[in-house]
Amino acid sequence: MKAVYLDNNATTRVDPDVVQTMLPFFTEQFGNPSSAHAFGESVGAALKTARKQLQELLGAAHDYEIVYTSGGTESNNTAILSALEALPDRSEIVTSKVEHPAVLTLCEHLEKIGRAKVHYIGVDSFGRLDIDAYRAALSDKVALVSLMWANNETGTIFPVEGLAELAKEHGALFHTDAVQAVGKAPISLKDSVIDMLSLSGHKLHAPKGIGALYVKRGARFKPLLRGGHQERGRRGGTENVPAIVGLGKAAQLALQHMADEQGRVREMRDRLEKAVLQRIPNCFVNGDPHDRLPNTANIAFEYVESEAILLHLNRGGVAASSGSACASGSMEPSHVLKAMEIPASALHGAVRFSFSRDNVAEDVDRVVEALPGILEKLRELSPFWADADKKSNDSKPVYA
Ligand SMILES: *Cc1c(COP(=O)(O)O)cnc(C)c1O
Repeated sequence: MKAVYLDNNATTRVDPDVVQTMLPFFTEQFGNPSSAHAFGESVGAALKTARKQLQELLGAAHDYEIVYTSGGTESNNTAILSALEALPDRSEIVTSKVEHPAVLTLCEHLEKIGRAKVHYIGVDSFGRLDIDAYRAALSDKVALVSLMWANNETGTIFPVEGLAELAKEHGALFHTDAVQAVGKAPISLKDSVIDMLSLSGHKLHAPKGIGALYVKRGARFKPLLRGGHQERGRRGGTENVPAIVGLGKAAQLALQHMADEQGRVREMRDRLEKAVLQRIPNCFVNGDPHDRLPNTANIAFEYVESEAILLHLNRGGVAASSGSACASGSMEPSHVLKAMEIPASALHGAVRFSFSRDNVAEDVDRVVEALPGILEKLRELSPFWADADKKSNDSKPVYA
């Protein structure tokens, strides 16, 4: 039986068209884009084309606002460290409790070495940012606000454009980790006050190890990697040309597939959630019922361990995840679900199904057929299930 891949928030398959676009840049078109001869010139032109393709996907005003990086982690690190250096009379950062480790780990490090004071803003049970706490944390001491566009575990979307405007009232720079949003949600940066935005190739059907940081024209910026004059001095190092060309192609394809993502992918995701909630008692959907990525379903099952569910699904040829790839394997519950204060009975039982345009309707059927039996079996073994209050899910508030 064909394996079903429902872990697209961890990584996506590289689109075959992306691979085809990349191939010549390993062989015939191998020049260094900084070289003044013909070998370099044609490669330089390809980097420019890719920049235009990314500009279009982001709705950015200028193609030179795109800085190529090695991925989401480097883009996030660059944005945060740049802001602290560019605004030396400010030493505070405002972020949230539900960011990706590529933001949180650096923030915790900066606190530990005494480089910055960090405000971690909480969320409600839907994963929505506490706006009052956010307003209260803002001041003229804040160098940078870093808030994600869409959450990788629940798909919850933060209203980043409005949040950026509040940050601007205090003269802070605003960065958003949009790694999960780019290609799945419409983005238009030219009329926003967002200063920096991170994206990563492998979350949108381009290769791993390539990404970009959008830096708005005029925004104060300091490079993380100093070296040659590549990327207008904003990121030293010879460009990863084949991957950049692939990222550009992936951006073009993402725009073409946006309607599919918002339509067919969303329908598959909604059908999965609905069927699971109907067939399995004591489970609920995590995330904002009104503003969520179209591809992500995070379902919490009470009185079971997600690792056990995933093991059984995997045996049945279905790949899903318990949240962030970095947290799986450890028994520590997700920091995102902990921040949302979901009931303790379900904290260890959340499973994330994340779709992409590669999925088909049969993938949903496979999960819907397999899950009820798996849950029944596991709950029979659970000492808590015997005494649990067995409930159907018709009136679950979390489900839209
Ligand atoms: C995957 C991911 C990252 C990290 O991107 P890499 O390219 O793997 O370094 C950062 N933020 C979010 C929200 C992600 O989902």
